[in-house]
Amino acid sequence: MKQKIKIATELFLNQLSEHNTRRVSLFFSKIKTKASASFAHQKWAIRLIRLCDFIIVRTNGFKFIEFELTNICNAQCIFCPYPDMLRTDKKFMNMSDALLAQNIEKLKHFNNALISFTPTTGDTLLHPEWDYFIEKIMQTPSVRQATFFTNAIKLDEANQLKLIQLLKKDRNGKMSQLYFSIGGLNVADYKTLYKVDRFELVVQQINAFLKLLKENNLTTGIHLHLKMLRAGDFEMAKAIAMLNQPNYPFVYISHSHLYYSNDGYKRNAQIGYYKPTDEEKKKACSYLYKTRFAADGSVWADGCVISEMPNDSSLKLGDADASWDAIENARQTIINQWELEGIVPKPCIGCTVYQCKK
Ligand code: SF4
Repeated sequence: MKQKIKIATELFLNQLSEHNTRRVSLFFSKIKTKASASFAHQKWAIRLIRLCDFIIVRTNGFKFIEFELTNICNAQCIFCPYPDMLRTDKKFMNMSDALLAQNIEKLKHFNNALISFTPTTGDTLLHPEWDYFIEKIMQTPSVRQATFFTNAIKLDEANQLKLIQLLKKDRNGKMSQLYFSIGGLNVADYKTLYKVDRFELVVQQINAFLKLLKENNLTTGIHLHLKMLRAGDFEMAKAIAMLNQPNYPFVYISHSHLYYSNDGYKRNAQIGYYKPTDEEKKKACSYLYKTRFAADGSVWADGCVISEMPNDSSLKLGDADASWDAIENARQTIINQWELEGIVPKPCIGCTVYQCKK
């Protein structure tokens, strides 16, 4: 029954326009902030906060902003183009202070922005001042919500404390959800998927961080997403016992055996991929309305893991010193070429992330 209600709610939310999706998201963010204030004393708040988290993560919309503080990574995942990009001329770097200021200036062109500090390649926690940068961006009035994905390899003790401080200072609950990606449920699968030997470290760090969240009465939604090998076994009970030992009430575990790809993507036989649909994609993908502020100073449409292919910049809209009109004109050109001339950008050909929403 509970599952049926969840599916019905998801279907309903999927029908909403982008404008209404954002309104629902902001409304439930506000409710969550209010319920969180009571959480330390009122245990009934747990159910309400979990409901808010359920809705907030399903109402991100398709116009959010990816703020890439770094494009450097500490893993070489087999489902990511990063290892191939390392063999190109692309510059790997951290976002500078000067670029941060330029990009913050550009945020005034957005209303009620949702910022995802998830790089296309890279891990946010590798930026030496990631907490200072995130705090500055979250203080921008047009930013209403924020989130990020990390592989938690660098979620060491110092970064755990920095993240707790950041969340405690965030009195408006803008950073209501965090996502940690984990390669399978054992040492061998992790090494095969992420190409580094960090499984035990990551499990220990995630548990230590959940303990800190609980001790500090914080209510941030922690989404643990398990990436699985084609033949990898997933058991929810095992995942919970391993990854949420402190029993923090706002942990949500998901897993996937399937990965996104496009026609130019080098596939790996150890993992499965979503099948491309046969539908004719006459409308440009909705995610072209997303914006990514890249660590190297470029500005791109979209920011999913396959939106930048090695040696391809077809979704690049310009550089940070370009006017906002020039950036939006470049976006419109890509969309018009797709819809009027049938010219589909390289990352979008055969892309299984494609979405068409009004
Ligand atoms: S089709 Fe794929 S690569 Fe292109 S904008 Fe959509 S999600 Fe990104």
